[in-house]
Amino acid sequence: MKPAAFAYHAPASVAEAVALLGALAAEDGRILAGGQSLVPTMAFRLAKPAHLIDINGIAALEKLAVEDGHLSIGACARHAAFHRPVVAGPLGALLTTVVRHIAHYPIRLRGTFCGSLAHADPASEWCLVAATLGAEMTAMSTRGARTIAAADFFAGIMSTELAEDELLAAARLPLLSNDTRFGFCEFSRRAGDYAIAMTLATLRIEGGTIVDPRVGVGGAEASPRRIAQAEAALAGRPPDAAVLRAAADAAADAIEPLEDIQADAAYRRDLVRAMTYRALERACA
Ligand SMILES: Cc1cc2nc3c(=O)[nH]c(=O)nc-3n(C[C@H](O)[C@H](O)[C@H](O)COP(=O)(O)OP(=O)(O)OC[C@H]3O[C@@H](n4cnc5c(N)ncnc54)[C@H](O)[C@@H]3O)c2cc1C
Repeated sequence: MKPAAFAYHAPASVAEAVALLGALAAEDGRILAGGQSLVPTMAFRLAKPAHLIDINGIAALEKLAVEDGHLSIGACARHAAFHRPVVAGPLGALLTTVVRHIAHYPIRLRGTFCGSLAHADPASEWCLVAATLGAEMTAMSTRGARTIAAADFFAGIMSTELAEDELLAAARLPLLSNDTRFGFCEFSRRAGDYAIAMTLATLRIEGGTIVDPRVGVGGAEASPRRIAQAEAALAGRPPDAAVLRAAADAAADAIEPLEDIQADAAYRRDLVRAMTYRALERACA
């Protein structure tokens, strides 16, 4: 099928994009970023936006910069930008590890980090990164700019706290200290498919014990989130197999698994247990 008719707008600045979105959101105006999720849904006529506001011509939104201890990722930064470390230290390595699991190479050349966050697929790797690391989102509208914490941003399957007239102008990820270790593990049926379950863990090891653990689970629930019970099972304990196993069990017990054609609840719970154990094993190796 071909998309339903729509009007195409190509703003040259953030101010112009925000003004267009403010004027057209109520008439089903939508941002077009990489188009890797929006265009297929338009082709199937699952989405029929009346106006597309294409932000790809706005050079300011391509920004990838370190500012105030954060990596700032502009709305037009593509997945492929992370094929190589964009910042020294563990954060750059973490993003390089995760990006290889997102779709396929051609899709990564066009799709954007912020587009993934705005689209909020439960199985999006970048949404898991944002939730686990505590990203800050910069939303802009004709009313001004506001910051939304990752913990408040994701609001269920393909749903966020962005208002319909807000542009997600950038996401900010905190830099990780050089002694931060990370582990990521994802299960999908084929390489490039969306995750059925995945875990991202970060932690430090000081004096033989685990410090500042973060355990995020994605693909298994309506939104990715940190699992406090798993983190509590790790903090202050040695990084041995029994401790990692207890944290993996805690993560599996804590989730309310999605059920779909890919996996029932029991299978997803088991996958979360396995992904969490392996992610922690990698972080502690
Ligand atoms: C075959 C295939 C496999 C895929 N596999 C994966 C995968 O494994 N993991 C994964 O995470 N993704 C996957 N994707 C999706 C891909 O990563 C998309 O790039 C991503 O979901 C959306 O980014 P985009 O820039 O293409 O956004 P678009 O498709 O342009 O937009 C998506 C939605 O977000 C809105 N939007 C986009 N940017 C903004 C913004 N800055 N502010 C406000 N609203 C905005 C749009 O209006 C639209 O509603 C896959 C896609 C395909 C086609």
